[in-house]
Amino acid sequence: MLYGVFEVNIKCPKCDGPVPLNGPWEVAHCDRCQADIDIPHDYWIDIFKDTDEELRTGETAEGEGSNSQIFGTFHTTMMYGRLKPYCPECKTELDVDPAKAPYVHKCPKCDRDMPVVPVPDWVKEGIPPATILVGGTLQGKEEGGEGEAPAEPIAFSCIKCGGALMVDGTERVVPCEFCGVKVYLPDDLWLRLHPAKVKERWRIGFDEKVPRSDLEDEEE
Ligand SMILES: [Zn+2]
Ligand SMILES: [Zn+2]
Ligand SMILES: [Zn+2]
Repeated sequence: MLYGVFEVNIKCPKCDGPVPLNGPWEVAHCDRCQADIDIPHDYWIDIFKDTDEELRTGETAEGEGSNSQIFGTFHTTMMYGRLKPYCPECKTELDVDPAKAPYVHKCPKCDRDMPVVPVPDWVKEGIPPATILVGGTLQGKEEGGEGEAPAEPIAFSCIKCGGALMVDGTERVVPCEFCGVKVYLPDDLWLRLHPAKVKERWRIGFDEKVPRSDLEDEEE
């Protein structure tokens, strides 16, 4: 398995805010202007085709990477490299097993979870050697399935009576259970409950034994 590592950021087409793409997302969400951004399949397939080729030809050596700016469908800032999966906490190399996907690979040293999932069908169809996604997530929108875990409740004092309220971020306006006033949660607290997505590293494992569909004629 050849591993390409990615860190991808695009500029929101609506507000120019930075939007991380922490996986081959079909829809991303801008935390700044709340826009949903459709990411076309071709956007990813083009990137993965280039990656697969560079990995195969050995153009990029293990541990090497580069930064690039792409001005196409989106203004994209991308870090791309060739790097086997390792634990982001303690840097232990992870011996990921593609045959077991989907599963959670636990770091043998520090126990950190690393999700390993098969790539979505549309990725596989566009670029057959692409096999697994390591780290990152499949969807950028938090709904159903793989969304982020609900926030830990945070204690907050009622602005009127000082009563201790526990808020978990499900509602922006929380009625005080002591005095009944409706409390509008301030921005800093709301952001703690709904942290803006940060750029993450994720990998695509390409199976070097699978021929590329667009090269098949030449190889057979
Ligand atoms: Zn935006
Ligand atoms: Zn670790
Ligand atoms: Zn109160």
